[in-house]
Parts: sequence; structure tokens; C-alpha cells
Amino acid sequence: MVKYPFLPQVRKHIAELGIDINDLGELESIVDRAKVRIAATFEFLAHMQNQVPYKRTEVEIASFPVAILVVTGVKDKILTERYALSEAKRVYSYLLKEKDEIILGIAEFFEWKIHPSKQRPFSYVVDFTNYLPNATRGRLVHAPEWKLVNRQLSKGQVSVTKNEVCRLLQEEIKKYIEGRTEEKITKTPQIIQDVIEEIKAEFLKRKPHLTEFDQKIQAKESEYPPCIMHLLDRTTKGQHLSHAERFTLVTYLFQQGVSADRIVNLFSNVSDFREDKTRYQVEHLAGQRGSRTPYKTYNCSTLKTHGICVNPDPICRTIRNPLTYHLRKKPTRDKEKK
Ligand code: SF4
Repeated sequence: MVKYPFLPQVRKHIAELGIDINDLGELESIVDRAKVRIAATFEFLAHMQNQVPYKRTEVEIASFPVAILVVTGVKDKILTERYALSEAKRVYSYLLKEKDEIILGIAEFFEWKIHPSKQRPFSYVVDFTNYLPNATRGRLVHAPEWKLVNRQLSKGQVSVTKNEVCRLLQEEIKKYIEGRTEEKITKTPQIIQDVIEEIKAEFLKRKPHLTEFDQKIQAKESEYPPCIMHLLDRTTKGQHLSHAERFTLVTYLFQQGVSADRIVNLFSNVSDFREDKTRYQVEHLAGQRGSRTPYKTYNCSTLKTHGICVNPDPICRTIRNPLTYHLRKKPTRDKEKK
């Protein structure tokens, strides 16, 4: 119930615990935990642990509907999406370690037509009516391997691996949580109303940066920040890059839409270059292997501590992550042209 708090048996359990939403004024720990669940999605209360579920099971379980109530009250589409994504990703990480019966149980909650498959490497077959709406959402819509034409399809059934079915469920869960925040709320206890106001204020402060970060405008090479240009220059000269430097360069280039092939080629001048090893590492960082979640480029503050921040210019003073550098550079360049 802690892992999958959206299931109907959880609502039943909360009802049995006798927690009345109107009595939550007494239950500060539940509200605090709900606050952390949401705050973690926009780097507020970052010092508080969000990944490890709260040690008291009842608090953890009850904090999920309260968090939904708060997000509903804030009424901000971007916050809703970020919160739903964060919860859905957490569920995805749990599902990867589950046996068939749990995965099938969760899929059945969403009324999927799904069956185990013995045809390796696939583990399941999913009806295309469940596959398609989820494979065309979020990041999946841009990845050719999720397109129906590239899938093994027989009598309307799509073959999927365990990782893939978990990833599709992540999309389904995100959609479900977004739907829950559209439910009408009537009266909320003052303690929750206070949290709604606090989360709203903190989120609005950070929203301009987050919105910018979420934009999918990709940089041209001439718009890369100084640190990345420096790493690129060293790589093409065949110089050795530390692990942190390689991580920064690969994650940055991938986020800017550079293909894994081109990134692998970049490293071909480095003296200890081995294509298979480099490709494995690049594809792993790009989320094309393993957890299928791309790694994010470090923030500038982290890059400074690693000595990767070099020749910062005035634009650098206005950003927190190299990925947003080109978004600030564009208006400057446009002005220069006029
Ligand atoms: S401030 Fe950020 S973007 Fe600019 S050079 Fe330093 S690390 Fe790169």
C-alpha cells in the first residue's frame, strides 16, 4: 500500500483507519509528509528525504491523498504534471523489482488486457488499445522504438519486455494522478489550506526557471555554454576527460537532441577509446538502457565544485543549469542582429 497508494484497497484501509480528511488538523505528520512529496518535485525542502518512504506506514499511505488534495488546491498545470510524474516514476522503480502477479495486478487495476508471454526477450503481450495511448505520451512519443510500426504485433497484441511494461504503466499512473487532481474539492481543513498557500508561493517563485527548463527548444552548437564548448574542444583534440566531465558532456548533448551515434563518434579521438564500452556508457546515460530514464546534466553549482565551470560569461550569472544557457543566449543574439 505504501508503494502503490492509488489502489482501491488503500482507500479502504484509510477508511478503516478512521482518518477523516476533516480531522487532519490533528495529523501534522501526514500533512508534512504530503508537503515533502510535492516539494521534492521543484527543489523546495530539498534537504528533506523524499525517496525513502516515511517510516510510519499509516503516515506514508495517508500522505498520498493529502498531497493530491494540495496539488488540486494549487491549481497549476505545471506543478500537477511534475507531481504526477514524480509519483509515477517512483512507482516505476518499484515495479521493476516486482514479480508478474503484482505487475499484472496493477495493470488490471487500469483495466489493461495483458498476459504473460514466454516468447523471450518479451515477458508480456499487451492489447494495442492499452499500448498505444501510453506509448504516445511523454518522452516515449519521440523514441522510434515505441512506435507501433517498430513493434512485434500479432492479432492486436503488442509484445513487450518487463521494463517496457513498467514504463508504459508509469505513463498510465501519471495520467491517473493528473485525473485525480481534476476532482472537485469542497472544503479543506485550515492546516491543508495553509500548505496549499505555502506550496503555491514557493512554486511560483521557482516556476519561471522550471518552465524554462522544461522547454524543449534545443541549442545549436554555437549556442552551447562555455563549459560545454571547452569539453567539446578537449574531446575533439583527443584529451582525456574525467568521469564527471564525460557525464556532463554526454548528458548535455543528449538533452540537446544529439544522437548516441554522434556522441560516441566524438570520443573516437581519445586514446583509450573503445567503441563498445563508450556506446554502452552513452546509451546508459541517455536512458536507452537500464532504467530507461535519461540522466540530468548537473547544475552549475555542482559543475563549479568539480572544476568544470570555465570562462563563465554574463549569461552564466542568470542561469542555474547549462541546459538553459541557449534560451538566454537567443534573445541576446537576436538583439545583436537588429
Ligand atoms: S556557469 Fe554554468 S553554464 Fe556557465 S560555464 Fe559555468 S557551468 Fe557552464
